[in-house]
Amino acid sequence: MISVEQATQIILSHTIGLGEEIISMPESTGRILQEDLIADRDFPPFHRVSMDGIAFQFDHFAAGNRSFKIEGLQAAGVPQMTLDNPINCLEVMTGAVLPNGADTVVRYEDVLIENGMATIQIEQVKEGQNVHKRGTDRAAGEIIVRRGNLISPAEIGVAATIGKPQVKVLKMPKVAIISTGDELVDIEEKPLPHQIRKSNVHNLASAVRQWGVPANLFHLPDEKQAIKEVLSTVLENHEALILSGGVSAGKLDFIPVVLEELKVEKLFHKVAQRPGKPFWFGKSEAAVVFAFPGNPVSSFMCLNRYFRPWLRASLGLAPFEKKYALLGKDFNFKPALTYFLQVRIEFADDGRLRAMPIEGKGSGDLANLVDADAFMELPNGRDQFSEGEVFPFILYR
Ligand code: AMP
Ligand code: MG
Repeated sequence: MISVEQATQIILSHTIGLGEEIISMPESTGRILQEDLIADRDFPPFHRVSMDGIAFQFDHFAAGNRSFKIEGLQAAGVPQMTLDNPINCLEVMTGAVLPNGADTVVRYEDVLIENGMATIQIEQVKEGQNVHKRGTDRAAGEIIVRRGNLISPAEIGVAATIGKPQVKVLKMPKVAIISTGDELVDIEEKPLPHQIRKSNVHNLASAVRQWGVPANLFHLPDEKQAIKEVLSTVLENHEALILSGGVSAGKLDFIPVVLEELKVEKLFHKVAQRPGKPFWFGKSEAAVVFAFPGNPVSSFMCLNRYFRPWLRASLGLAPFEKKYALLGKDFNFKPALTYFLQVRIEFADDGRLRAMPIEGKGSGDLANLVDADAFMELPNGRDQFSEGEVFPFILYR
């Protein structure tokens, strides 16, 4: 049996490389950029008026002039106008090009307009105010977002403004999520007294899809030959397999032996942790295999603790920074295992995070996942954990 840290290390040394593809830019949120986003023009591309008001030459204001004859209106979306007489002004709208001959804008709220004349009502006017000068945000040719960045709504805005209807991104891994067990029926079905509905594949698929990765669902019965047939094709068509169930010590837990028969090299089996001790991890030529135990809390914890960092690393993203909270209550745990305590994270009024244990009835208690919102990682080698001590946690919602 290996430690949580060893398991993590092994998993992170088996990330996969992913190809590139070109996709529709507005649909690229959550993907990894595979090109630089470069300013095609200055940002902003012209001296942009940033307030509705009047535009004039500051020198005339500085010389004491407060009333300016209005020559016309420079609206947004209209080519640049020119002041015919430099002592006059033009009305200007936010988003318009600053008229030629003007350098300063005073907003309507500070101007009295009567009989074609605008009279400035304030004394505090700065040269160039309310003008967003060309190129002051970014210069044409500058890299605004670098290749390798995760695309979020902020990057989408930049890609749109530089005119990119399509964008080159990393392909996402092809992921299969596989349930195992003869007691499981589909969610549309009414289970017999000895059956239950498949829940955790949907729970796992939902998480994986939330991380931007499409997932195909499969099911395996507790029958060795059938497992082998299905798994051999799934292995050919996917880059990551997430199995749940069939990896423990039961007589019908065939997954590890079948995987090895299918030439998936075992990298470890069993991690010194609760939940999730029977976790099996391996690699074939084309795919990595995360075979989690079937209990819903175990598989979900393992997905968050192991698969998600693997996915991030495979996408070339920096690891998440560890998050820490104060344990909210004394807690005892005797076995020599790392314990992933289910907790609810609270924002305490001292400005710190506190993790309140929401223990539930063990790893089969999937309803408890909706009462808690994180797993707090309590280290192996101790059995008493005191209120106020600080430990890392993984937030899952
Ligand atoms: P196993 O790891 O196959 O021994 O399963 C452990 C427990 O998890 C058993 O009680 C299973 O019925 C349950 N289980 C396994 N797979 C699922 C699933 N997809 N959805 C809900 N429960 C499951
Ligand atoms: Mg089973």
